Amino acid sequence: MRPLALALALVMLTVGGCGRAGDDSGASEGAEVIAAFYPLEFVATEIVGPNATVTNLSPPGVEPHDLELAPDQVRSLAQADLVVYIGEGFQPAVEGVVGELSGTPTIDSLDTQDELIEGGDSHEDEADHEDETGRSHDLEEGAVDPHVWLDPTRLASLGNIIASEMAEIDTDNADVYEDNAAALAGALNELDEEYSAALENCERNELVVSHEAFGYLTDRYGLEQVGVSGIDPESEPSPGRVAEVAEFAREHGVTTIFFEEQVAPDIAQVIADEIGARVEVLDPLEFKPEGDSDYFEVMRSNLDSISAALGCN
Ligand SMILES: [Zn+2]
Repeated sequence: MRPLALALALVMLTVGGCGRAGDDSGASEGAEVIAAFYPLEFVATEIVGPNATVTNLSPPGVEPHDLELAPDQVRSLAQADLVVYIGEGFQPAVEGVVGELSGTPTIDSLDTQDELIEGGDSHEDEADHEDETGRSHDLEEGAVDPHVWLDPTRLASLGNIIASEMAEIDTDNADVYEDNAAALAGALNELDEEYSAALENCERNELVVSHEAFGYLTDRYGLEQVGVSGIDPESEPSPGRVAEVAEFAREHGVTTIFFEEQVAPDIAQVIADEIGARVEVLDPLEFKPEGDSDYFEVMRSNLDSISAALGCN
């Protein structure tokens, strides 16, 4: 972290005095909020509306796990009025800079959540995969699952926290932020109810995915996630792991192996071919959706795919 501290100190020297919380001129010109990647950008934008600028640190098409930062992004973090990110090793470069910031309000989206899903078991003892708590087997040991945004109720909590921070940064618009948070929470609760209703009566409850991003979602709606590649989509599964998931999928009559569009479907296809299932896209919402689509639209399309795959009615 030494070179980083030095770089940041230099940045601070160059930008010294720029609009910051507590500096009255800052808020009136509109606060600068930095969100580490799409779902955080989405929530922050819903909360601040036109009263502040929200910038997404992850460029379009760049896998947000292990994001690297350009020097001007490090500079923008140092100048921001509020930084919203996800800690626990999801994006170490962002965490590194955030750790060196003094005086800038930051929100670790995982701190806003009650029970986080944590890994414990190692990959060696996965023989008992049939138990219905399978998710913990699939996380790297000691790792915390970062994908909290895929549970709408957890995203609503984050919205509330952002609104409280913004209310302090820009007191004049405090009411607006609280109202926006309430409206967002209402819409997210509606989505949550749609999920609960659609997934209540299903023939199967095993969701087989290449990228293990859906742990909070499966937790919330009483499903079981079985992942092939782990919580980092780019980690290579061992042949043993692939065989194990194929075996599990066959035993449970799984009809669909899910993969994400941005990652090649090879492994999912291998498993699907082996057991006569099909592959289908399930979007973990780590990237900004194309065109006018947004979080809600993708979540609803994911719900359709899940309920079809699990034979829900
Ligand atoms: Zn992910």
